[in-house]
Amino acid sequence: MSKQPIGVQAQHRPVLAIEGLTVSFDGFKAVDDLNLYVDRNEVRVVIGPNGAGKTTVLDLICGKTASTAGSIQFNNLELTKMREHDIVRAGVGRKFQTPSIYENLTVFENLEVSFPRGRKVFGALVFKRAPDVVERIERIAEEIFLTEQLHQQADLLSHGQKQWLEIGMLLMQEPELLMLDEPVAGMSVSEREKTAELLGRISKGRSVLVIEHDMEFVKSIAHKVTVLHQGKILAEGSMDAVQSNPKVIEVYLGH
Ligand code: ADP
Ligand code: MG
Repeated sequence: MSKQPIGVQAQHRPVLAIEGLTVSFDGFKAVDDLNLYVDRNEVRVVIGPNGAGKTTVLDLICGKTASTAGSIQFNNLELTKMREHDIVRAGVGRKFQTPSIYENLTVFENLEVSFPRGRKVFGALVFKRAPDVVERIERIAEEIFLTEQLHQQADLLSHGQKQWLEIGMLLMQEPELLMLDEPVAGMSVSEREKTAELLGRISKGRSVLVIEHDMEFVKSIAHKVTVLHQGKILAEGSMDAVQSNPKVIEVYLGH
């Protein structure tokens, strides 16, 4: 039986509840007895020095890496027992550090192939486009600031626009939990500001888990910050509390 944090009512259960999560690579614990709870409508940011285990946490949640111990409850599902594609189907979307879009397809086509109907990339283009799918593509293109680029080939987009397109491709699947690994790396200041606005908007009705180093950006999006160090939580709380925490300054912010 999984432990419930004391005082958490059934209707207030977090969307994501990680408890005792551990992964050991040849005896080295990259994630060590981690507890992490993320609510609906929450933007949680995970920060910490390189090698802290941040990316590994996302790998464990999305099923790319198998855990050694512990549990990952997503609604009523135990993700540690599920396969990667079933986790996606259950409503977990994950964006990697480098965008994985189809460079030779248009923005429209990239969004279209991401529509969850089990379509294949090449099959998708001969399908008759259903009006509801087209509507969803147009709505999401607007959300990710790419309405004007809708019929442009993706390789012509800027680096930041490619990052937005990949977020859009995840949104096509309407995930309940969206995970982003360093989404503003390499973006211009104005692209960062627009990304912050985008994440605020898309967190409505879902949970967003972000790994990020850019503290200005973290400050502009985080409801709560978790500081990871050597696979463990060093501190957790509001941006202000975390930023003034001496332990956090020593191992991370001071550098
Ligand atoms: P972060 O994203 O916080 O920089 P990572 O999660 O990528 O850190 O890595 C945490 C530690 O785990 C690092 O020391 C890394 O080398 C190690 N690690 C990550 N994945 C693997 C793996 N598949 N096999 C062995 N070691 C790994
Ligand atoms: Mg990383």
